[in-house]
Formats: sequence, structure tokens, C-alpha cells
Amino acid sequence: MRTPQALSHVMPSLLGHTLAGFTVSAAFHRGRPPFRVALAATACALAPDLDWFTGWAGLSEGHDLAHRGISHGLAAVPILAGCFMLLLFRKRLKEPRLWLCLGAATLSHGLLDAWTFGGTGVAFLAPFIDTRYTAAWQPLFVSPLPLSGHLLEWFLFALATELVWLGLPALLIIEGLKRRFDRPQLDREPLVPRETDA
Ligand SMILES: [Zn+2]
Repeated sequence: MRTPQALSHVMPSLLGHTLAGFTVSAAFHRGRPPFRVALAATACALAPDLDWFTGWAGLSEGHDLAHRGISHGLAAVPILAGCFMLLLFRKRLKEPRLWLCLGAATLSHGLLDAWTFGGTGVAFLAPFIDTRYTAAWQPLFVSPLPLSGHLLEWFLFALATELVWLGLPALLIIEGLKRRFDRPQLDREPLVPRETDA
């Protein structure tokens, strides 16, 4: 069997993208996001990496269909989000908020990849411009695949960078949103009416 190109260092772990997708879905909802929306947003945040499998096709690194190519571009965002809208929310196609939620989750993928040290840049403007872009600051590390030997140590290190730079902010955002939406409700609806206090 052919080995995919750059097999040993191709993408951030699935954890980072999963966290991003779930956090986006939480940011678009009061309280806990509906399970189906959280699932769809997470799937959107992971979907661009389907191009990882083109590694078996032996495409050159800068090819539009190669990893971090066209599926990671801005043009792919509405297409991928639209696929999940059609698959899971056919009766809610006219809800711009839901489109935005899934679009933002999809967009988060390319942004995180650009924020990741190692691997190739992201073709944000594919198929119109082939340039691969990376962020000036790359605090995350790509995860090695497959996991074996010393690569396991690398994987754990990459995972640690994701927990620090993605896990903590995600936790803060989710907790902040929870507090923000919980508090006014308590303020507006006292458990005991004032006139009965006496
Ligand atoms: Zn990716």
C-alpha cells in the first residue's frame, strides 16, 4: 500500500478541531447548544481534513486537492456548511444564524491549521490563488500520524499545546457564556415574590 505524503506530520489532532467546533456552537446559543447543532458544528470543524486522504494519490504538496488545499479555503466554507445544512437541517435552511454557526465552525479549521507549526500552509484563496498561508505566530504543533515510537512523545507534546492554547480558552468561553446567560434569568425571576417576603 502506498504511504500518504508527509504521513508523519500532517495535521493538528482531532481534539483541537473538535474543541473549536463545539465552542463555536456554544457561542451561538444561550446555554447548552442543542446536540444536533453541536454535532454538526463539530463535524464542520473536522470536515476540511477529509483531504488528508488524498495523500494516497501522490499529489504534489502545493496541489489544490492536496492536504490543506481547496477544502481548507474560504470558498469551501459555505459549501461544507451547506452540505451539513442539507444533511441535518433541511427544514431550517432559512435560518442565517445556523448558517453562520456552521460557517464559523468550518472556518475555524483553516485558521487553526494556519496557527499550527509544521506541515504545509493553508490555501485560503484556492482555487483562485495557490499561495499557502501560515500565521505569524504558531503556538500549536502538528500531530504526528501514525502514533509509534518517538512519535508518541511528539503527539503528547502537540496535545499539550492544544490543551493550553485551545482547551483553556474554550473552557473560559463556555463558562463565561454559561454565567452570562444564567445570571439575568435569576435576576429577572426571583424564586420568591417580594410581597411574600414578610
Ligand atoms: Zn486541516
